[in-house]
Amino acid sequence: MKVLVPVKRVVDYNVKVRVKSDGSGVDIANVKMSMNPFDEIAVEEAVRLKEKGVATEVIAVSCGVQQCQETLRTAMAIGADRAILVQTDEELQPLAVAKLLKALVDKEQPGLVILGKQAIDDDCNQTGQMLAALGDLPQATFASKIEVADGKAKVTREVDGGFETVELSLPAVVTADLRLNEPRYVTLPNIMKAKKKQMDVVKPEDLGVDVKPRLKTLKVSEPPKRGAGVKVPDVATLVAKLKNEAKVI
Ligand code: AMP
Repeated sequence: MKVLVPVKRVVDYNVKVRVKSDGSGVDIANVKMSMNPFDEIAVEEAVRLKEKGVATEVIAVSCGVQQCQETLRTAMAIGADRAILVQTDEELQPLAVAKLLKALVDKEQPGLVILGKQAIDDDCNQTGQMLAALGDLPQATFASKIEVADGKAKVTREVDGGFETVELSLPAVVTADLRLNEPRYVTLPNIMKAKKKQMDVVKPEDLGVDVKPRLKTLKVSEPPKRGAGVKVPDVATLVAKLKNEAKVI
């Protein structure tokens, strides 16, 4: 069984992004970029499935600019066998990515697609769901455990106040939550090995997909600045302030 893992190149989670002065987006010039953290978890899970003998091949896919190759090399250093870059300089929205992934699913016929639950740059949480809809595939989002046996995946999902376990027939789409696993450290020998692994580069046109944005960003703005806190002498004053000033009780 092949496992397809879409990985997105995003601003590193340690970077504090700044909104551009014209409000058209965030400034990503000269900013450290890394693999979306949930996608690292997805790659780790796919590699573990291969190590258990459940998966036969792990294919990492990234859609975006040429530098996404670095993200794909990281995925291969974690243990993905090969990579596909769908290269474009266009801004890609989740629907466009889902269509590109659907075209690759048709071509590669994976038994499982494991995505991150959301990208930390756009916070959309849409791509996996859209891919499942386009491909008419069963889906389990927010997975904290995946077990594959007898052509089925048993997925434990984190839901409000507990867990839910669902069974899907394969092929299926699963999105990874934070507690699914802890990704391994990438070692130098594995980084070196990854340089030799196969990376295919295709264009959206080769897959017959029109990636034109369907949504227009009207404005991006900073969150309001938080005022300084105050110390209150006793509980009675706190309650009074919550009641009269904050008006939350
Ligand atoms: P989103 O719907 O944008 O929050 O992204 C959810 C997941 O879809 C990510 O964690 C990735 O696994 C996948 N994804 C989104 N955009 C891309 C992209 N440009 N290339 C590869 N995978 C992507």
